[in-house]
Order: sequence, then C-alpha cells, then structure tokens
Amino acid sequence: MESRAINFGAGPSALPASVLEEATKGLLNFNGTGIGIAEISHRSKEFTTYLQSVEQNIRKLLDVQPTHSILFTQGGGSTQFSAVVLNMLARHRLLHPQLKDEDRVLDYVVTGSWSKKAAEEARRMGGSTVKIAADSRKYSKDQKSFDNIPTADAYSFSNDPALIYYCANETVDGVEFSAEETSPASFPYQLLPKNALLPLVGDYSSSFMSRPIPHLSDHAIIYAGAQKNIGPAGLTILIVRNDCIVDVDAAAKLGATPVPICLSYKTLADNNSLYNTPPVLSIYITGLVLEYMLQLGGLDYYAGLTNRKSKKLYDVLKDGQTKGIFEGKVKESSGSQMNVVFDVVGEGLLAKFIAGAEERGMKGLKGHRSVGGVRVSIYNAVTEEETDQLISYMEQFAGRHKVNEE
Ligand code: PMP
Repeated sequence: MESRAINFGAGPSALPASVLEEATKGLLNFNGTGIGIAEISHRSKEFTTYLQSVEQNIRKLLDVQPTHSILFTQGGGSTQFSAVVLNMLARHRLLHPQLKDEDRVLDYVVTGSWSKKAAEEARRMGGSTVKIAADSRKYSKDQKSFDNIPTADAYSFSNDPALIYYCANETVDGVEFSAEETSPASFPYQLLPKNALLPLVGDYSSSFMSRPIPHLSDHAIIYAGAQKNIGPAGLTILIVRNDCIVDVDAAAKLGATPVPICLSYKTLADNNSLYNTPPVLSIYITGLVLEYMLQLGGLDYYAGLTNRKSKKLYDVLKDGQTKGIFEGKVKESSGSQMNVVFDVVGEGLLAKFIAGAEERGMKGLKGHRSVGGVRVSIYNAVTEEETDQLISYMEQFAGRHKVNEE
C-alpha cells in the first residue's frame, strides 16, 4: 500500500484502499462460491441477491422511496444524454399524442461542458424543440466561460416541457449547484412548474453519494456513472420515478422515435436490470464501497467530510490569490465542492506546481484540457489527511512564489 499515490483525478477516481483489498478476495472467490466475481454468472442466486443488496443500500443512503425505481445499466453518463431524451419524449407522446414534434419542448439549463453536451445531444435526437432555460455563460466574466451559477432571475422554464434538465456538478468547469437553498447558486426549484409529476432530470455523475440530493422525490430521473465517488467505471445508476418508465413501443406506434431496447427504462425495470449482462465487477466493487460508506455513517458523514475538505481548499486558494500566485477560475459562491479549479499565475509556474505535487506523490491535478490550470477532485475516497497534504504543499508553494507581500 505504501506505493499508492494520492489520487486527485476527476474520474475514474480514488477508491478506499480497504475496499480494494476486500475486492481482491472477491476476485478469487465471491461470497464463498469458489468462483471469482469476474467469472460468475450474473444470473446466479449469489449475484442476484448481491444486486438486490446494492439497490437497498442506495435506497438507504439516499432515502429513495418506492415511488422511484433504481436501475443499473452501462454506457456512462454520455449514454444517458440520449436515453433521457428518448424515454421522456416517449412519455410525452403517450401523454399528448396529438402534439406536433416542434411543440414538444425540452428545457436545458446549461451551466458547463456536460450540460452543454447533453443539450447538443438532445438536438441531435430530434423530435422536439430544445430550449435553453438558462445559459450561465451570459453571466460569466467574459461571456464565454462557465464560471458561475446564475441567480434565479436568469432562468425561464416552459409551460409543459417533456423534460427539464440540469447537471448538478460540472466536473470540467468546477461549478456546482449549491445544496443550500438559501445560496444564490442553488437550483431554482421554486421557479419550476407546480406539477406533481415534474419531468425534472438531474445529471449527478459528479456529486452522486457525496451528500443527500435535495428534492430527490421531485425528480423524474437522476443518473450517475459510478466512477467518481463509489466505484469503477462501467456502471451507470438510474433513479427513475415510476411514471417515467413507459411503454416506449406503444409510444413509437404513435410516432415517437423507437428506443433502442437497452436504452429503454422499461426494459431495465421489467428485467431487474438483467436484460443483458451487467457490469458485474463494477457492481460488486460499488456494493463494497456502499457498505463501507454506511459503516462510516452514510451521507451525513460524507457531506461533513466534503464540506471540510472543500472549505480548507478554497481557503488556501483565497490566501494564494491574495499573494498573487493562485487564481480561482469560478465565482466564489458557485465553486464546486468536488472539483476545485484554479490557475497558477506566472511564467512556467503551473508546470512547476504540478511537477512538485507529483514529486510528493500527489497525482491527477492537471486541469481538463479544455479549461487548463489545476483541477483538484476531492471525491469521497480522498481523505481529509490527504487533502491536508495538498493544502500544505499549496501553502509552501504560495510562500515561495508569492508576488504580493502581505
Ligand atoms: N456528466 C458529468 C457531470 C460528468 O462528470 C461526466 C464524466 N466526467 C459525464 C457526464 C460523462 O460520463 P461518462 O464518461 O460516464 O459518459
């Protein structure tokens, strides 16, 4: 274990070492079957029982009520960019068979690179009119960056949209809807149409299981790839309100786009997520991580941990900003708790900062290629002590290279 680096990577990300050690046992012999988890049938009693326990633990951790189904699939967040559109347009078709395609409206809140991509995919899918309910770039420092979550007056939602889409945490850009509803950077739930069956869709890929999800029961769909906070890549988790699991073939008969069988939520639901072979290994490790999280105190524990880690990081960033060495890339109130992004000011100093971190065993700090700078991802498995090591390195670095004297 001594050779393990501190991994600040944005995904796939760090996993708890004790869980990985446990997983090596399961790789050889899963739950006493004598067969390794990568070798066992997904239809075996042992695996299907395990899958049920993973579902129960997700329900427990996020307090998911029976109004919503938990579905397991593959294809990552990017596949859901298309799947949410197809399933929700099929639902809308069944509800309003007479409407013309152009009168089926999809509302997209664009706050960063991922929601922008999702809106582009919705346009590609056709069969609707994509409306941008808010574009945060209009409220940025240069009209083109995603550096801000705008205040409520920036949003305009349609009357009866087929979906209302947002991304809770923009991993690339480092902005996040605040979980504090009093914050100006929180999602404006109060502006949404008052509809018991709100078609609200949230991409939680990047903050899933780092804290409770506000208004979870008001959502039509919440989805997330496992590979940030809870497991290896390959597993995508969906929380779908039951009225959004519709007969997509009946909708297609009325003119909706046919939904590929494995993208249909009904296929997943009718087959307990076992229509085809699921990502067995990824589900296994995710299950171990969820057990571990419950032992530590569930999402209250992680929300506290995330708050502490991110607060310390933003504090040292602010201090470095005063010294003229660091510069935060996003507006203060919009800063993500999971991904802290900043520039290192001065010729050649970014490369020096990254190299110095690597020498100290800290990896994965280079910013996304479209944004540059430094990105520190502090997903659940990055401990407070590991975060403290980075913070003391940032303090030393700022002290050595400061431009402004206090
Ligand atoms: N949405 C968000 C918020 C993400 O962070 C990512 C991946 N980093 C994606 C979607 C895309 O997920 P995937 O790579 O699993 O397709």
